[in-house]
Amino acid sequence: MTDFDVAVIGGGHAGCEAALVASRAGARTALVTLSQATIGAMSCNPAIGGLGKGHLVREIDALDGAMGCVADGAGIQFRLLNARKGPAVHGPRAQMDRALYSSAMQQLVTCASNITLIEGEAADIEVQNQRVVGMVLADGSYIPARCVVLTTGTFLRGMIRIGERSIPAGRMGDQASVRLAHRMEALGLPMGRLKTGTPPRVDGRTIDWDAIEDQPGDDDPTMLSFLSARPAIRQVTCAITHTNEATHDIIRANLHRSAIYGGHFDSAGPRYCPSVEDKVVRFEDKSAHQIFLEPEGLSTTTVYPNGISTSLPEDVQESFLRSIKGLERARIERHGYAIEYDYVDPRALRPTLELIAMPNLFLAGQINGTTGYEEAAAQGIVAGLNAARQARGHAGRTFSRTNSYIGVMIDDLVLRGVSEPYRMFTSRSEFRLSLRPDNADQRLTPLAIEEDICSRPRRRAFDIKMEQLTKARTILSSCSATPSLAREANIRIGRDGGRRTALQLLAYPDVSVETLIRVWPELDSIKRGIRRQLECEARYSGYVDRQLSDARDIDRSEALRIPQGFDYQSLGGLSGELTQKLSAARPETVGQAGRIEGMTPAALALILARIRASELRSVA
Ligand code: FAD
Repeated sequence: MTDFDVAVIGGGHAGCEAALVASRAGARTALVTLSQATIGAMSCNPAIGGLGKGHLVREIDALDGAMGCVADGAGIQFRLLNARKGPAVHGPRAQMDRALYSSAMQQLVTCASNITLIEGEAADIEVQNQRVVGMVLADGSYIPARCVVLTTGTFLRGMIRIGERSIPAGRMGDQASVRLAHRMEALGLPMGRLKTGTPPRVDGRTIDWDAIEDQPGDDDPTMLSFLSARPAIRQVTCAITHTNEATHDIIRANLHRSAIYGGHFDSAGPRYCPSVEDKVVRFEDKSAHQIFLEPEGLSTTTVYPNGISTSLPEDVQESFLRSIKGLERARIERHGYAIEYDYVDPRALRPTLELIAMPNLFLAGQINGTTGYEEAAAQGIVAGLNAARQARGHAGRTFSRTNSYIGVMIDDLVLRGVSEPYRMFTSRSEFRLSLRPDNADQRLTPLAIEEDICSRPRRRAFDIKMEQLTKARTILSSCSATPSLAREANIRIGRDGGRRTALQLLAYPDVSVETLIRVWPELDSIKRGIRRQLECEARYSGYVDRQLSDARDIDRSEALRIPQGFDYQSLGGLSGELTQKLSAARPETVGQAGRIEGMTPAALALILARIRASELRSVA
């Protein structure tokens, strides 16, 4: 068997991006996965993007990852969530044709030049001198590799629960990964259990669509990739219905039969994506909960009822579903279930996503305690890129909180760990006014170009966009208006009598490039996409300047590295609790140390003083 630079285990969302980026980086890559047919499979909801998640998709796309383009090609409904709020918190989201999404991803992976696809179960990881040297498949074959990326999702000792029934599985219809889980435990990795759930799937032909409210997509769809102009396939309408008191009564009466409430689980599930049992118990005073009825594709009649994930037994699922308007005659095609699985405490990782204890073993996706396709894919790109770099003997490439949501997520994971499945929210970023979905390419495509992982068409499109932006900014800065001229376009500016450039006027509320064209018709030459981009920039310009200066402070403290093996015990003056937290988290930089819960300025000063003293000693 060829000696691979990078071997990726798992063909899910993290695994596909990891393998694809490693191949773009020129690494000889193996993708080992249980079944070729499930590459890119969406285990739960057939949708990509959303609040916070849309930011991640745009960042993956800016790094030339696959998710955005594949989703645009398979999208059957596009909606911009939070559209009424500012662009910094917009959530581009698209409903997928589930089958089309995974087949397009399979095509990309199988056609990639440096990827060898191997169908099989990775059962063992071969380690010599604290370094992985390869893996053994369940059929006994050996795959040597310089670096391994583990992306096994919910499969490690996965256990499905429906009511009182338990079925070992990675997800419904897929075998669990048990031998690999035992091996990881034997390697001494810190592991725990988490859970998640999925709703029943319904035959759309048995839904009374006329009785419920339609939910159409946006008239002017927002695409997920910077390279897409419009949807590629026919668009569909979704619908909205609600649970009611009768539904809640049925659920309450059967809570003891739910896997979640019947005492079969002691792991944590996603709080912000609760099961329907959870909703009924936690929000006792709510008489209804929204359910989005989302078609799963153009060539299937299956519908995904978003909002009612459950682990109640099948008979209870049937009866509560029939109490819901529009679903009175609905036929369940597959029942909902919960799944419990092993994860690795992400505090065992460096920000490159390699294990601290085993530097050429990388972990990405649900295995690190996250939930969601987008979170997984974003980690996949970081792990795959770093595995390829390491195979070539290059230092790791990290992402910072100041340049991306990817950086925010990884920093949160490796420093704080997780107590429940981690998902992205815009509120997790302190720099959300500058880390917007609209400018992800400006933040990250230069990095992809530098890393040589950016395809030529993307690079060309990016260069053209940047040229057009620069040209448009120059035109806008060269046009200036007196207050009276501005009033002609209904723009009220201060009474100081001073002139304002068109670029400054764009920062005023309700002023768009279209408004300015009334004063300066020459601005009509600015393309539509460039207009929207300039409006976003202008709207946030005041705040962004302030954030940039905060970001520079953070970047400075990120540049101050804490030496490996730094002895916090011997640092007099630190509280016992902080000593323990710092010794466990082993922050790599002063910036990271500052973000550890309970950290004080005095404690940071002590660490800094010790670093400076040892630097002075080494100079002397
Ligand atoms: P996965 O997509 O699970 O991919 C894992 C891959 O690893 C698979 O291809 C598998 O074949 C392969 N594999 C596993 N073990 C081995 C082995 N030993 N050898 C070779 N290959 C192996 N996310 C949400 O955001 N919201 C939700 O509501 C939600 N609900 C979910 C409900 C259920 C029941 C499940 C199963 C998942 C749910 N998810 C949800 C999570 C979402 O599916 C995952 O976050 C996402 O798929 C994780 O991507 P991943 O790449 O880490 O793993």
